[in-house]
Amino acid sequence: MNTLLVFSPVFVSRIFILVFMALVSALPAAEAANPPAWKVGTASVVITPEKKLWMAGYAFRNKPAEGKDQDLFAKALAFEDEQGTRLVLVTADLSAISRALRTGVEQKVKAAHGLPREALLLNASHTHSGPMVRAASARPEVQRDTAEYAAALEDKVVRIIGEALKNLAPANVTWNQARAGFAMNRRLPTPKGFVNEPNPDGPVDHQVPVLRVESPDGQLRAALFGYACHNTTMRGYVWGGDYAGYAQQYLQEHRKDFTAHFLMGCGGDQNPYPRMTGDTPMMTEIDNARSHGRTLANAVEVALRVPRRPITGPLLLAYESVQLDYADGRPPADYPVQVIKFGSSFTLVALASEAVVDYSLRLKRELAGDTAVWVAAYCNDILGYIPSQRVLREGGYEATAGWAESVEEKIITKVHQLHRQLQPPAPKNP
Ligand SMILES: [Zn+2]
Repeated sequence: MNTLLVFSPVFVSRIFILVFMALVSALPAAEAANPPAWKVGTASVVITPEKKLWMAGYAFRNKPAEGKDQDLFAKALAFEDEQGTRLVLVTADLSAISRALRTGVEQKVKAAHGLPREALLLNASHTHSGPMVRAASARPEVQRDTAEYAAALEDKVVRIIGEALKNLAPANVTWNQARAGFAMNRRLPTPKGFVNEPNPDGPVDHQVPVLRVESPDGQLRAALFGYACHNTTMRGYVWGGDYAGYAQQYLQEHRKDFTAHFLMGCGGDQNPYPRMTGDTPMMTEIDNARSHGRTLANAVEVALRVPRRPITGPLLLAYESVQLDYADGRPPADYPVQVIKFGSSFTLVALASEAVVDYSLRLKRELAGDTAVWVAAYCNDILGYIPSQRVLREGGYEATAGWAESVEEKIITKVHQLHRQLQPPAPKNP
């Protein structure tokens, strides 16, 4: 005779509750949040020049580009919080974001989508294998082709911002970080002063911060990742995104409906090593760019796998300029500073131009607390190198733009002012 096991209803309900609690506690925090707190949209476009343009980055080049290693891209990543506040980050395989590009795009997306200035961030990867967006030669055909490219680029960036906003869809946003070690300080002290050579003892920022965007069904849709290092592995005459271009390609090539966005950090005094052909026996500069790209992509893959830290709203946005003085009394320059807070969970500081690594190390230290801090440079405008007070006093290549010693304190003070001003609303009483 078979023996039937009979459990009392109370016992069964207790077992059910225990199993349910075990399942819920096994879920990562972000996935337990239901419904998703964010809407996220992406779009991208190829911006590889079709005509023979001159390349940006190295003064020794004496002819236009002769082909391509990789396509260049501009990519838009749009966020909308639960209150409907929006933010669009545009990353691009370009040497720099010119004031003209920033102003043109800003005006058009304000008119078309009501996107305010503080809700728009433009970042260049600082690839030295991208096009000049200002003509390098007085020859009329160079002037014409460069102007034509700059106008088409502006239209493309405006278009992908519109597409990313149109594609906004519910998403969970989390972050974490990993590390990559190929960036090295490039300010070597010698008896003759600081020279542009690898310095293994100089300051670096090897952090690889990663924002992870996932659809409610768990599908990975986008990753925004950063690194503080010049994209100067390559110096030939072919278009390419350098290590950042390869890192994005490697992350995307085995995923469907996914975009990887590279946000350049404070790499003003950082180079990838080895770089160029001949630095490594048997390896070309393209091999070296691929190798660094793989290293960075691997760091991002790890950051995508480790426990996810939830990013919560609301979005709090500020964009203001600070006047930077020159040592020789020239009129001061307008320097834009942008601070973006994702509630009290995450802060993104966007500095302009070629800020050296001291800025990210200092701001991460000073703004540290409960909040994760990410410091990008090469955003919104280009005014040459932005040295710290230390670099200015030491001299060398990154200290030649003629800034007054007050530059670092003025920028840091503005960041702190905007950071304090952006206070998340106090939690409501239950
Ligand atoms: Zn540079």
